[in-house]
Formats: sequence, structure tokens, C-alpha cells
Amino acid sequence: MAGLDKEFDYRVPARLADRVDVGTLVRVDLHGRRVAAWVVAVDVEPPPGVERRPVTRVSSVGPPADLVDLATWTAHRWSGRRASVLRTASPRRNVASLPPARPTRRPDVTVDDLAASALGRPGVTVLRVAPTDDGVAVATAAAALGNALVLCPAVGRARWLAGRLGRLGFRVHLQPGAWSGGPSGGVVIGTRSAALAPTAALAAVAVIDEHDESLQEERNPTWHARDVAVERARRAGVPCLLVSPAPTLAALAVADRAMAVPRARERAGWPAVEIVDRRSEEPGRGGLFSQRVAEVLRSAERPVAVLNRKGRAAMLACASCGELVRTEDGTRLMVERDGGLVAPETGETRPLICAVCTGTSLKRLRLGVTRAAEELARLVGRPVTEVTADAGEVEGAAVVLGTEAALHLDLQADVVVFLDFDQEVLAPRYRAAEQAMGLLVRAARLVGGRRPGSSIVIQTRSPDHRVLRAAVAADPGRMVDEERSVRAAIGFPPAGALAEVGGPGAAAFLAPLAGADGVTILGPRPDGRHLLRTDGPERLADVLASLERPKERVRVAVDPPRA
Ligand SMILES: [Zn+2]
Repeated sequence: MAGLDKEFDYRVPARLADRVDVGTLVRVDLHGRRVAAWVVAVDVEPPPGVERRPVTRVSSVGPPADLVDLATWTAHRWSGRRASVLRTASPRRNVASLPPARPTRRPDVTVDDLAASALGRPGVTVLRVAPTDDGVAVATAAAALGNALVLCPAVGRARWLAGRLGRLGFRVHLQPGAWSGGPSGGVVIGTRSAALAPTAALAAVAVIDEHDESLQEERNPTWHARDVAVERARRAGVPCLLVSPAPTLAALAVADRAMAVPRARERAGWPAVEIVDRRSEEPGRGGLFSQRVAEVLRSAERPVAVLNRKGRAAMLACASCGELVRTEDGTRLMVERDGGLVAPETGETRPLICAVCTGTSLKRLRLGVTRAAEELARLVGRPVTEVTADAGEVEGAAVVLGTEAALHLDLQADVVVFLDFDQEVLAPRYRAAEQAMGLLVRAARLVGGRRPGSSIVIQTRSPDHRVLRAAVAADPGRMVDEERSVRAAIGFPPAGALAEVGGPGAAAFLAPLAGADGVTILGPRPDGRHLLRTDGPERLADVLASLERPKERVRVAVDPPRA
């Protein structure tokens, strides 16, 4: 039932019998209203004495039985409504019937050796590629195996890949538009939702840029296309290839093996990375722009400067030693509140004193994008275009300054400058390091990898952070071990499973878990949200499914990207 997420029994009238199967979209009467629903089982024996009402109408062909099962698994795994997952698995417009299957002609193409060998093994393989890798080699290798499912984060990339494979001679179904084409055979290509698109008997699954956050649904259920793709491949018994320039711990944790392109190929995709260490400067003096960065922005041909400002409290730096003001253990930033310091996530407090040198003169580092753009224009004597979310055209401007949205623009750039990278690597989120590396991958793409004049320049007060050391070495693989031990130390994914529980009913919802074995509840934090932690995703899903929803609203986000 689309609005209710409950199962009801209905009778299938003889006139509709040959059109109703598991997955079919139907209309039924419920309490006098006609509502949309999916058939999730057929040939069900009703309880004795129950008179069932008939299905009123068949609306559309829906997801096949195996995808209805996968949708059920997905809804359970991310503790959400099955109806919302089934909607994703269904065609956007009603489909009367599927076209007949056609034999697939496999074009004679040259297949990349490494991609073919990665896809030639059973189970899940992680392949680390250069940031500039366009995904064609992997998609082609998958398609060459037969009916393939290829996922990537962005619509533009999916369309482009579909075009490339089409020109190579493959039969391609770009999702979500070509929903009904999949079952006829060929390659199904699309973004997140295509993880649940129907295909003919699968031969291979590939996920390109598995690290990209757009592969995860933001609303409940917060399912991740990578994890659904892995489960789908496992159920079909076909190889699954997870590709990324910076593979996530989540991918590595489910992988049977990890591979990487040859070092020279990876290196060629990374521009030179220059670190500008700001600890030696007096905070507040140079403002947002160090002398070195001003120089770069003055002389680069088409520079892009990135400054993420999303309404967070101002960061503080010590005027004596230049270090950022952090918690005693150095892992979290502290902000000024009520005349003292506080770490918003943990509640740790201390007077206005630097933990490194006990200096008491602390300076604010915050500057908004608009004021930064004005200041930059004055500083470099060139016009500056400000870019925020949903930016339009950038016309012939000398310098582009914006939030990370600037990295999503289709523009020519030779240098990307991160004005305040500490805000990324030290963000109060457990995936912060991976997310920061994701930004560097984007920057590397924007400047076209390693070529004369291209570079990434990073202003920081944490030059030894694992993300920066890995980026300078053009080797994201280097941060994996340290990142894994940081997560293991706090029991966060993949060392454990996590759900964020918020809303006015959160405390009542979680109350039955007090003292439960293998379950930890952290919080509530100042914003009222709790974190629920278990040793693994299956256990987490079972625990969440066992809880009664209280009257008051509860919001559950399993493995939330921003926790
Ligand atoms: Zn200090």
C-alpha cells in the first residue's frame, strides 16, 4: 500500500488474472478510498471466513519478484518504508506490458585488461583508479560480459556513459527513462535509483565512484546504492566491481579483494598538491588568504577557490602557537560559548585556553563567502565571481570563489585552492576524512589531473592530517589503515553499525533498549538526536525493527552520512 506500508489481502478477478503478478502496480479499495498498491505475494491463502475484496484495476507492470524481495531487504536494512523503496523500483510512468526479450548481440570491442580481470572473479572487487578515470573501461568490461548493471552518481555521467557504450554497439537502457527496456537484455545504466531497475538475467554489476555521497538516499530509508548493488550481485551470483579513486572503508569491508590501477596511471590523474601551512602566521593577520594563496590566485589562469561555509560556528585558532582550538585529545574542534570553550558533539568544556600551549588569546577564523569574495577581489586586483549552490553560468570571470558547489560546475580550471580545508577534515562527522578526500578527487578532475600548470593548493593548520599526506602522495590508499583504526577505536562503521534517531519521540522509541546486549546508545546531543550503535548492520536492522513506534514523531537514519 503506497501510503500505508502495510499488507492486505485482495482477490484477483478473473479478467485481471493474467496481468497480476508479484510487483504489479494495482488500485484497490481501502476504507472507501481507491489507493495505489503493489502486489507483494500471490496465491495467498486468506484466513478462514474472510471475504476479500477484488483488485479494482491494474495500473502498471512493476518490479519483478526478485526486486520486490530486494526492496524488502533494503527497507529492513535501512529501517524504512518498503513502499518508498518499491516506488524507486517501479517505472516513473505506467507501463502496460514489457517488450519481448531480444537476443543480445555483443559487439566486438577491446576490453581493458585490468577491468576485465577485476570483473572476471566471483564476489566483490574494489578497484582504485585515477581521479580522471572516466568509467568507460569498467562499463565496457561489464557490458562485454552480458546483461550488466552500471551505476554512477551523476545523471550527466550516466547519460555520457550510455552514449559511449551505445556508440560501441551495446544495447543500452538509460534509467529511469528506459525502465521497461532493461528486461529485454543489454546494459542498464543509471544513478542511485537504477540499483533497483529491472534487468534481464544479470551477468555483472559495476558501481562507478562508489565513494560519492549522491549514491546514498538522503531521506529515510537512507539506503546506499553501493550496498544494494552488492547485495543484488550476491543474490544473482555475479561479480560486483566497486570503482573509485578513493575507495571507502565501507566498500573495502565488503570486498573479497582490492585492486588498483598501475601506479603511473594513478599518479597521472592527480595534479600536484601544495600545502600552505598557516600555523606560522599570526591568526587574524593574514585573514582568509595567506600570502602564498594570494600569489596563486593572482597568477593562475583560471583559478577556483573553495570555501565551505554552512552556518557552523566560527573556528578558533590560538594566537600564540597557531593551532586550531580542539578538544584535549585533539580530535574535535571547540567553539566559544558563554565565555568558555565547548565541543558541540561531546559536550567537553574548558576555559578559553589553548590545549597545546595554554595560550589564552584565541582568534576567530570565520569569514562568509560574500565578504571573502569582496576581500579577494581587492587583494588580487581581479574580478571574482561568487558561486553558491545551484550556480548558473560563470562567464569569463578571472577568479571563481564559492562553496564546494563550485567543484560541480562544468568549467575550465587550472588551479583549485581550498581556503579552509580544516573545516573539512576536522568536521564533526565520522566520515569527514573520506568526504574531504572526495572533495580533492573532484578538484583533481576539475583541473584535469597532472598537467603543466595544474595544481591543488590547500590552506591548513593540520598539514599532517592523513587526508593531506595521502593527497600529497597522490595515493588515497595511504589513509586507509589509519582511517580504519580511528573508526575501530570508536566502534563506528564499518567497525560497527550506526543509526541516528531524532524527533520528539526518539527517547521513548529507544527506551526499551536500555541495558540491551550489544547495543550502545549515545546522546542525546544538544540537538536532541541519539546515536544507536551495534556491532553490524544486520543486528542494527533487527533491533530497529523490533521497536514500537511511539505516538510522537521519530526520525531514523541508518548509517547517516552526516553523523
Ligand atoms: Zn596555542
